[in-house]
Amino acid sequence: MSSVTVRVPAKVNVQLSVGPLREDGYHDLVNVFHAVSIFDDVVARESDSITVAVTGDWADLVPVDDTNLAVQAARALAKHAGVCYGADLVIHKAIPVAGGMAGGSADAAAALVACNELWGLRLPAEDLMRLAADLGSDVPFSLMGGTALGTGRGELLTELPTTGTFHWTFAMADGGLSTPSVYAECDRLRATPSRGFWPEADAGLLAALRDGDPHALGRCLSNDLQPAALSLRPALAVTLEAGRRLGALGAIVSGSGPTCAFLVEDAAHAARLAQALPERAPIRATATAHGPTPGATIL
Ligand code: ATP
Repeated sequence: MSSVTVRVPAKVNVQLSVGPLREDGYHDLVNVFHAVSIFDDVVARESDSITVAVTGDWADLVPVDDTNLAVQAARALAKHAGVCYGADLVIHKAIPVAGGMAGGSADAAAALVACNELWGLRLPAEDLMRLAADLGSDVPFSLMGGTALGTGRGELLTELPTTGTFHWTFAMADGGLSTPSVYAECDRLRATPSRGFWPEADAGLLAALRDGDPHALGRCLSNDLQPAALSLRPALAVTLEAGRRLGALGAIVSGSGPTCAFLVEDAAHAARLAQALPERAPIRATATAHGPTPGATIL
């Protein structure tokens, strides 16, 4: 096999509840992930060494050295399997960078799947999941896709049942937000550390997902990082309000932001919102999408 292409989705957190800061510097999370149809494609070709190149609108923001998460994933896989194979990786990037949609994690998951195939390793899914968890909290979900409840740092996953398809419009901002700085701002804004507080999955939200009810889901969307993202980037409030006025069923900052996610009625509503938002809010681009979609998949 000389080349493998893997398609991997972005995610939106329909619930992101952040517990108190742990002694190891992480937060316990209750994280309901939902994979949506904005995809990066990662192509892996046979080579003597591991290299990466990036194409697409966001390419100039992605490192092409050893800090690239796809390169780290390929190296971790080779080490785990005890092989010294190489791969030239090309990432065709559509997921916004530092946008709160797990773009880097998605590429890491795609590189694991692509190199496992390219190198003929045939490692089982459980091995890839373990490697994924070591690479980052969001990487296991990028492998798995669908809709899932993540606990711990977000990496302990339980698949959630859903019905039908949910439709979304995303508003991408100019410039990213660093995930660690948004968590730090969240800690700063919480005047008293919430000792003993333990976040739980929202029963209403789980029912809305299970029933395929976008109106109920829209009312339940929640993100504990949103106040921090708005504090660091006040203009996001304008974007969220514009989406609500245009009839979104729910409006939320995606993960650590600055991408804003709008849950809508159907594909036509998503397209109308995507067209109208740029006139009313300070954004770089819009995209329509649906979810849930599968995780990293060989094309
Ligand atoms: P999350 O939602 O998981 O918190 P994010 O979507 O906000 O993350 P990413 O797009 O993953 O953020 O990018 C975070 C940083 O990771 C970027 O600023 C970039 O420098 C670095 N990075 C490393 N590898 C990649 C990659 N393959 N794609 C995107 N960013 C990468």
